Amino acid sequence: MTGVPILRVEGVTVSYGAVRALTDVAFHIGRNEAVALVGANGAGKSTMFKAIIGLLGVEAGRIELDGNEVQHLAPERRCRLGLGYAPEGRRVPPGLTVRENLEVVARGGQAARRRLVERAFAMFSALQERQSSSGWQLSGGQQQMLAIARAMMTEPKLLLLDEPSLGLSPKLADDVLRQVGTIVASGTSVLLAEQNVGKALACCGRAYVLEIGRIVMSGPSRDLCDSEAVQRAYLGG
Ligand code: ATP
Repeated sequence: MTGVPILRVEGVTVSYGAVRALTDVAFHIGRNEAVALVGANGAGKSTMFKAIIGLLGVEAGRIELDGNEVQHLAPERRCRLGLGYAPEGRRVPPGLTVRENLEVVARGGQAARRRLVERAFAMFSALQERQSSSGWQLSGGQQQMLAIARAMMTEPKLLLLDEPSLGLSPKLADDVLRQVGTIVASGTSVLLAEQNVGKALACCGRAYVLEIGRIVMSGPSRDLCDSEAVQRAYLGG
């Protein structure tokens, strides 16, 4: 990798009281890169996301966002430095229309906001078709797309995507995950947390495997796909 990574995590340890959830975790994400953080239920993916966003303090270690040390900063400062977060889709405000949901979080003046909404519709044509529908009228996949589109309204340097395939049919999950490439092409790097290891490896160039709070494997997705240990543990091989 050349240049300063968008995200660098070094020696991060996080505990909930006496329960250690992450131990000495280290990884990085480059510019224009989609990286997956995969692991089973309880491996520590959500804890890692919360530590990056600033909802949980780190006991040890360092988190750098685009060269800035951020582990002591409040979430909104990290957001201003270019961090975006797309939570699980059902947390999108259901009373607003799709267009309102986007406009309300877009940055800049009227022209900039219009451009960002048009960009979101170009990324997710299903949202353009439903732009006047309320959040509650959307399918699970469309709600997930809206959650991602909302996070993209601030043009983040790095987007954290938390389990976007959760609760979706395989086809809808594919429709959502296909957008990872589009997001990266628009200039935003992606960190994708997924339990569905096969789908995550298919849409990200590299991946880190988290087991009981530690990174146990990492590398290009195609190498991990071919790895016997990954096949056995996560791909039903
Ligand atoms: P999932 O995919 O189910 O969200 P995960 O990989 O995101 O799993 P985490 O939710 O980060 O895993 O959990 C990591 C560990 O920390 C688990 O052992 C979990 O039981 C523990 N844990 C998570 N939240 C808390 C909490 N609020 N208090 C105590 N322990 C917690």
